[in-house]
Amino acid sequence: MSYEERIAQVEQYIDDHLREFLEDLKALCAFPTVAAQGQAIDETAEFTRQLLEKYGFQSDVMPSTGNPMVYGELTGSGDKILLCYNHYDVQPAEPLDLWDSPPFEATERDGKLYARGVVDDKGHIVCRLAAIAALKAVYGELPCSVKILIEGEEEIGSMSMEPFIEQHLELLSGADGCLWEFGGVDYEDRPETVLGMRGDVYVELRARTLAHDAHSGIGGSIFPNAAWRLTWALSTLKGPDERILIPGWYDDVRDPTARELDLLQGTPRTDEALKESFGLDSFLNGVDGVGMKRQQLFEPTCTIAGLGSGYQGPGSKTVLPAEAMAKIDFRIVPDQDPDDLMEKLRAHLKNQGFGDIEVIQHGGSRAARVDPDAPFVQMYVEEAREVYGKEPVIQPTSGGSGPMDPFVRLLGVPIVNVGVGYPHTLVHAPNENMRIADFARGVKLTARMMARMRTA
Ligand SMILES: [Zn+2]
Repeated sequence: MSYEERIAQVEQYIDDHLREFLEDLKALCAFPTVAAQGQAIDETAEFTRQLLEKYGFQSDVMPSTGNPMVYGELTGSGDKILLCYNHYDVQPAEPLDLWDSPPFEATERDGKLYARGVVDDKGHIVCRLAAIAALKAVYGELPCSVKILIEGEEEIGSMSMEPFIEQHLELLSGADGCLWEFGGVDYEDRPETVLGMRGDVYVELRARTLAHDAHSGIGGSIFPNAAWRLTWALSTLKGPDERILIPGWYDDVRDPTARELDLLQGTPRTDEALKESFGLDSFLNGVDGVGMKRQQLFEPTCTIAGLGSGYQGPGSKTVLPAEAMAKIDFRIVPDQDPDDLMEKLRAHLKNQGFGDIEVIQHGGSRAARVDPDAPFVQMYVEEAREVYGKEPVIQPTSGGSGPMDPFVRLLGVPIVNVGVGYPHTLVHAPNENMRIADFARGVKLTARMMARMRTA
């Protein structure tokens, strides 16, 4: 039987058994696995382990420096190994009154399944398992071996991922390709993959100038004000031209390669859609077209993500605040190093006379890049074209961040996005939803990637 004949049987099996796979997904979505609130972590890890076993994996719940990891191995024919990275934790469901059905009770409406985590990322876990069931049914055994690593704190920064991979290098290495935790189609229903992510450094800055708040009439001219202190410190971090002013911040920035810029050129233009959606006339520094994308994806950023001090209620309160805080989200690019940047930030504040401002780090990851010419990426392009009937969009990198760097740098594995998402999945928001048709397509592409590992 030819590859295409067999794959047609696999796809038929997927269509015929879709209901059973969705039942497993509904059961997984019933766990309120909110990492930020430490909810249902152990229960979900154990249930996920059992689900892996049901689909033929040998699996374990393994300790990490944070929430436990679920790891599974399934040996197939041939010597190729596919690695899958997923997460069993979800974002908080709040605000609950904006949900049309209970967030932890997966509900079907109009060809869609609604639940917190139905796409991000429980839908992707079941997508991998469904593909395996279909391949085993048609091929008799899995055409490649599969290793799956499912973490429980992706939504709070994946802080344990790098140490876990470092500690289990032997267990996790040797894979020929990796399916990342998310994927799906863009606004034009084209399959899309990203060949990298930016890294991030997330910090909280705290100014404290007094033992407690003061009457501004008493203290205004003689007491130091925490809100002023913090805003003066913040103003030393970035200029109005968007350039980060911390000395040495750009030292390790690697310019995009000609190949990356080439890929960027091939991605759809998003200028007008973004401007319309956000009510903008222009972007920062007046960029547009490919220049806008280059600035959007390949430049480091310094974003004030939260700012608080003093009285913020209605009317007036003549208070002199003793405390002020800001949350700052720095996105970073290859080859910037979060530890080095943290040192530069601390040294800068000190040198500017702000040594009293407390710097608390909440996260840090390096940027990652996948080789666009890896055969595994080419395989994705060919198979995605078959499943979706459209030319895939290859983004040289995402503007977002995730734990991709230890997979690329420590495990040396090429990565693509195969998934069940679409632009209106509302991940992280109320009414997170998955189109059931997208689930079927995601499972089919996952199965094709596994089947091709055998012939690769
Ligand atoms: Zn998420």
